[in-house]
Amino acid sequence: MSKTSEGYDAIVIGGGPAGATSGALLAEKGRRVLILEKEKFPRYHVGESLMPFCYFTLERLGVLEQLKAFEFTEKHSVQFVPQNGKVSQPFYFFQHMDHPAATTWQVKRSEFDEMLLKNAAAKGAEVREETKVVNFLYEGERVVGVKAVGKDGEEYEVRAPVTLDASGRDAAFLTKKKWRKRDPYLNKIAIWTLLKGAKRDPGLDEGATTIAYLDGKGWFWNIPMKDGMVSSGIVAERDYLYRDTRDPAEIFAREIKNNKWVEEHLSGSESLGEYWVTGEYSYRAEHCAADGIVLVGDAFAFLDPVFSSGVFLALKSGEMAADVVDAALEKGSVDGADFAEYGEKLCHAIEVMRRMVYAFYQEDFSFGKMIKKYRELRPDLTDCLIGDLVGKEYEELMAAMGEFAEMPEPLGHGRAAVGV
Ligand SMILES: Cc1cc2nc3c(=O)[nH]c(=O)nc-3n(C[C@H](O)[C@H](O)[C@H](O)COP(=O)(O)OP(=O)(O)OC[C@H]3O[C@@H](n4cnc5c(N)ncnc54)[C@H](O)[C@@H]3O)c2cc1C
Repeated sequence: MSKTSEGYDAIVIGGGPAGATSGALLAEKGRRVLILEKEKFPRYHVGESLMPFCYFTLERLGVLEQLKAFEFTEKHSVQFVPQNGKVSQPFYFFQHMDHPAATTWQVKRSEFDEMLLKNAAAKGAEVREETKVVNFLYEGERVVGVKAVGKDGEEYEVRAPVTLDASGRDAAFLTKKKWRKRDPYLNKIAIWTLLKGAKRDPGLDEGATTIAYLDGKGWFWNIPMKDGMVSSGIVAERDYLYRDTRDPAEIFAREIKNNKWVEEHLSGSESLGEYWVTGEYSYRAEHCAADGIVLVGDAFAFLDPVFSSGVFLALKSGEMAADVVDAALEKGSVDGADFAEYGEKLCHAIEVMRRMVYAFYQEDFSFGKMIKKYRELRPDLTDCLIGDLVGKEYEELMAAMGEFAEMPEPLGHGRAAVGV
């Protein structure tokens, strides 16, 4: 069956931060955009802690005032806590950056994502919720549209010169193409829940993201949110987490006792009930684009969330892809080759973060130790932590990290497919 399928310039799969950003910016440029989202918003989503550099895409989207009205917990810093519970000097963003972006937020993703999707609709994108993309349409190797199933259960086709895949970790296109390449060393498991009654630090530190170390290459995250809620989770190796039980609530309760800071802050808290588990942690697609299609956000790549880079990369890649797509539509065709620079820039930004993540997981590595030797690199390190990642080299920082930790080779894949 075919359903009002003609006349779109772009189809966006997924209405999360990446898809809503691309959709809004393309619609703002006068493009006819269709966003297909399988869920009904608002919906729960993990990933509440923003990086300061999210600010600039949110500013371009024109949503900062709406965002402030939600009164999400303000995040001024990130802090790292060893197992003995002694907090290292927090990285306060305002000490480094004299700009409103230095204050960022711990958002409730259901509200944040709905705001972004409504913004896309307000700018003229057509949004169809409860509509799942189930396949792609091709002319030769070129993607020319999608097959979708609406809430009435009917399958239909939609065509457009370009499709933006922003389907998150479902990763619709890379799954179909078998393009998912895992980062084996970063293949961890996460278990998390939402809590009430956790202890909060006073003053400026109330909204800090805390990363608390565990044995076995693992860590806890503590993200204080509004309404007295805390998002808390553990990321660690499978063997470590599942060593005596596979019950997520039992594992969570067991691990609270393995870091003094966590024990002090969470032992009086109570889970709202649900525990989530996810594996297959870090991956990147073989290619970020091909003729007629570009991959954005988690649908392209997912990196271990220790530095809260996911939403930033989703917003930024959504923004970058919208600009390339608009320019390509102007010239008349949207080809893989149009995304060569997009792929280079995005892979470079992810690679900087990936090296930080590798360093973080090495047993003897500590950012504190490195900064003690190379004080002059503290600003560069903070730049990475705030998300100033696109178009910056960080050669000295990477070289210094290489002295203290084994650095991985940059991944060769992820560039645009040309003539594939
Ligand atoms: C355990 C964990 C902790 C994390 N913590 C953080 C954090 O603190 N800070 C941070 O910045 N990031 C964090 N992240 C990462 C962050 O959640 C993601 O990077 C971010 O949500 C990516 O945005 P996106 O728009 O690409 O994908 P998503 O937000 O996942 O949005 C994709 C959308 O596509 C829809 N969709 C999927 N398939 C289809 C389909 N076939 N048809 C139609 N619609 C479809 C989905 O319903 C969804 O709404 C974390 C991730 C994990 C797993």
